[in-house]
Amino acid sequence: MGVNQSLGGNVTVTSLDKLVNWVRKSSIWPMTFGLACCAIEMMATGASHNDLDRFGIIFRASPRQSDCIIIAGTVTKKMLPVIKTVYEQMPEPKWVVAMGACACSGGIFDTYSVVQGIDEALPVDVYIPGCPPRPEALLYGLMKLQDKIMGESGSFGSVFGLGDRVSTV
Ligand code: SF4
Repeated sequence: MGVNQSLGGNVTVTSLDKLVNWVRKSSIWPMTFGLACCAIEMMATGASHNDLDRFGIIFRASPRQSDCIIIAGTVTKKMLPVIKTVYEQMPEPKWVVAMGACACSGGIFDTYSVVQGIDEALPVDVYIPGCPPRPEALLYGLMKLQDKIMGESGSFGSVFGLGDRVSTV
């Protein structure tokens, strides 16, 4: 009597942190939010040819359901308060991707009306250079974000308010 069958590949041993990180990195839901020309490339990345869905990355139309915001385009000083409001409406944990030269550094717009990099206002996790970055670059940036999420510690405890997540990457 009893189980004679070898468990083989049916058993996985891991830490709770890694399990939570794996769930999070496999279900990144970015805000449907674009600012300028880079947003067209972001839309192309989400379309069928590149297909973000296969990574579990699905755009959401509400900040309440989003855990990632891709700053895709030129950030004007007039728009910055709106971006901050959207970011603050997103629940924790949340991540920020700066897509393109404008979002990273103001790009070619070194003018009175343009923010010289969204990191002046939001904590950026991944910077993607280019004007505009191609969909392949955004895909690569999102994969780097997944790597960063997998490297976080304290993920399980933070779910219950026990300490903070810490990025080790
Ligand atoms: S980086 Fe280039 S393509 Fe992207 S928003 Fe700025 S000007 Fe447009």
